[in-house]
Amino acid sequence: MAYNKQMTALKNKRNVIDIIRLNSPINKAEIAKMAGLSIPSVMKITDELEEMKLICSLGRGESTGGKPPEMLTFVTNAFYLIGVDIGRSRVKVILMDMGAQIYERRYMTSTATENPESFLERVADLVEEIIANADIPKERLLGIGIGMPGILNPESGKIIFSPNFMWKDVELLPVFRKRFAAPVLIENANRAMALGEHWYGVSQNVNRVLTVNLGYGIGAAMLDGRKIDRGGSGCSGELGHMILKKDGNICSCGNRGCLESISSGYAIAKTAQQEARNKNAEKILKEAGGIPEDIEAKHVFLAAEAGDMTAQTIIQEAIEYLGIGIANCINLLDPDMVVLAGRIMLSSDYFWEELKAQIGNHQMKYSAMNIRIKKGILGEEATAIGAATLPLRRFINYGASYQALVDL
Ligand SMILES: [Zn+2]
Repeated sequence: MAYNKQMTALKNKRNVIDIIRLNSPINKAEIAKMAGLSIPSVMKITDELEEMKLICSLGRGESTGGKPPEMLTFVTNAFYLIGVDIGRSRVKVILMDMGAQIYERRYMTSTATENPESFLERVADLVEEIIANADIPKERLLGIGIGMPGILNPESGKIIFSPNFMWKDVELLPVFRKRFAAPVLIENANRAMALGEHWYGVSQNVNRVLTVNLGYGIGAAMLDGRKIDRGGSGCSGELGHMILKKDGNICSCGNRGCLESISSGYAIAKTAQQEARNKNAEKILKEAGGIPEDIEAKHVFLAAEAGDMTAQTIIQEAIEYLGIGIANCINLLDPDMVVLAGRIMLSSDYFWEELKAQIGNHQMKYSAMNIRIKKGILGEEATAIGAATLPLRRFINYGASYQALVDL
């Protein structure tokens, strides 16, 4: 087949899979209409997908006059996926099906001081445990996806630099590939989170989406339709290192005044610790059990909710700068939607309401007039779900091809 014809066939197959996946149950005439294909072309594809057991017939639906049409549905548990979220404070491993139904979960505390090799072996132990416990046939595990904070090369699986863990040049993928027969893929954690919300969450069917991950650090990811925009050298999305304060505090990246050094969970905790040492943060200190070094962002949120002025001031400053940073991104990128997700979004409703207001205050009046600012809906597991989506995404992008996964 000529190259162009082959590409068109692949695109059509991919579209038909997506249409069935997102609109089940659906009949062939509806698929043909949505995909802009003839019914025989659709049937050629659906026969193949039925053979693979990726879709199945539910029998005849409601008649609209003539013979009732056969309804097809996507078989979400035809394959299973494993998602790994390597977070600075916790590692989460989940086993889910293609509909993001989660069957198993395993957690592990992250220790930043541990050497990367033994840390990653412990993560792999967790994956092994979940596979052994799940009791699913090997051929039905489509793959393992890993979300990892920092700058990395998704092809080679090398972590170039992860400021959260202070890792440099760590070969992550080989650790997993030597232990598992299933295909293993890796992506930056912010991009994994963006994929999770795009496949199963709040930004489904939205074209240009900027997802902001607010947690221990601050990161962002831009999706353009099916594409992840990684930038020219794979480093796009470093919203946390947008410099907003000349001569501000030093940041984990080595620069000063980065957004992450003002508004991240880490920065909120750090500022409160300093206030506590200066004897200005009695209520926050009480929440943390009396030891300044034990203060975490969550203690500042609790004190703020209880009316503590110091805590409220720290949080207000974090929100204001974040609002400015995100408004800058909106002016620059003109997305259709901004998704705000991550641990900080889960810890405080006030933060979300006020941040939305601050973004509106700073955004250029005529830019992105129809933008929607939304809160992520996948919660704590957004990154793990998004990571699990990595092998599925590749499988579907290549027209339900195992070969595309085996060829990694
Ligand atoms: Zn920085």
